[in-house]
Amino acid sequence: MFRKLLVANRGEIAVRVIRACRELGVASVAVYSDADAHAPHVREADEAVNIGPAPSSASYLLGESIIAAARATGAEAVHPGYGFLSEREWFARLVRDSGLAWVGPPAEAIAAMGSKTSARILAIAAGVPVVPGTTEPLRDLADARETAERFGYPVLLKAAAGGGGKGMRVVRADEDLEASLAAAQREARNAFGDDAVYVEKYIEGPRHVEIQVLADQHGRVISLGERECSIQRRHQKMIEEAPSVALTPALRRRMGDTAVAAARAAGYVNAGTCEFLLDRNGDFYFLEMNTRLQVEHPVTELVTGIDLVQWQLRIAAGEPLDLPDHIEPRGWAIECRLTSEDPAHGFLPSTGRVSYLHVPAGPGVRWDGGIEPGSTVGLHYDSLLGKLIVWARTRSGAIARMQRALHELRIVGVETSREFHLRVMEHEDYRAGAVSIQWLEQALPGLVAQAPPPGEVRLAAVAAALLAERDRGGATPGAAPSRVTADRWKDAARRDALR
Ligand code: ADP
Repeated sequence: MFRKLLVANRGEIAVRVIRACRELGVASVAVYSDADAHAPHVREADEAVNIGPAPSSASYLLGESIIAAARATGAEAVHPGYGFLSEREWFARLVRDSGLAWVGPPAEAIAAMGSKTSARILAIAAGVPVVPGTTEPLRDLADARETAERFGYPVLLKAAAGGGGKGMRVVRADEDLEASLAAAQREARNAFGDDAVYVEKYIEGPRHVEIQVLADQHGRVISLGERECSIQRRHQKMIEEAPSVALTPALRRRMGDTAVAAARAAGYVNAGTCEFLLDRNGDFYFLEMNTRLQVEHPVTELVTGIDLVQWQLRIAAGEPLDLPDHIEPRGWAIECRLTSEDPAHGFLPSTGRVSYLHVPAGPGVRWDGGIEPGSTVGLHYDSLLGKLIVWARTRSGAIARMQRALHELRIVGVETSREFHLRVMEHEDYRAGAVSIQWLEQALPGLVAQAPPPGEVRLAAVAAALLAERDRGGATPGAAPSRVTADRWKDAARRDALR
């Protein structure tokens, strides 16, 4: 095993990797921008190196600075986390050429899976079913029109270099094609510097189900089951769970074998994820392979008992996998992504200083966070504050536990998506598992417009009463609702939050 590892990331995922290091007895080096000088990942690491000003283009995306930090501290390996440089082929190569171990797949595998069109070509060659569509970028509008008609509307225009839902447009009719093509190309050019766009048939009402794989350096590839990620807004995941209500052990096995075949075809090593659309008939189609650790990896960890980040390090250090080929999930896990966004106002990003934070605990609860009281939430980085993950024996038990944990969670100082998550947990469709990738967009107006859940009303009353009390300069017996008086011992700790 390595003696020292550099974490080329920030926020919750940097903290997550540092935790794995500590459990394996590996010393950790954090890198940070000026904006992150007091961030939790900097404090948690054994050493930390400043790599530049706040904009990520001048810090977290500067490969050379990261390599220099690794050299200066004597780190032997680099873990990229997700986002930033994690899927940049050139960076994987740079790390390797610098004589450091790369905790991720070979640069060649990143390249093979890096473009959606090259991944489709590779998948087709490996006998992996893909969504009907093309593998060549569109030449012009006439080509787009001919292709769309061949597959039949609705179609999805997709950026070949795409990621994060960018450069994607659903087109339902011929008259919308021209404007949508221009928009997809423009977005792709701005986001990826590459305006290649291709066509897929738009599948109505599928689920997003993805398979986690691990591959060692000795040719072993295993699947660790699925994650259900259908709760999406603008093609971005918001809530994930494992297992999926839609899978039987037989289907899990088939999808697992397919993901393993795709990974093998790419010469894959380390942790990776094959994303699929699963339709109502149980047919599934390969979308893409993410050649890194996923945000939602903890749900797999909780139902398999396997620490994926520790295995990433072990694999990078050359250890063989000593796990079975297929792993069946045990119990149920759900993850909510808590972001600094205001669902009541179109998920507008919110900024500010975290003045109070109470993290849920108790049976079956895990918090992977990147903030603490005093943290500043700005606009330089993505809006993920932390992930709340729960485990229970059954799905309904996990939902109840998530509701309980969300009620315990308090983040004051920025708007968060906490209430939105509570509403989803209460929704009958979610509770029944009757969701598709289009469900959230349809349910959203009702989810953000409802009255606050009962617990929130009580808390709002408590807050109002405490504020009134403070303004009066102390308690006035009888002036506040009696429930507040009865609950005062509980709320004392929340007072800071109200200042
Ligand atoms: P990105 O890499 O930008 O995230 P993906 O190819 O992974 O793009 O797709 C993101 C999401 O968009 C999927 O999870 C799914 O919800 C939706 N999607 C992608 N392809 C299709 C398709 N052909 N039909 C319907 N929905 C799709």
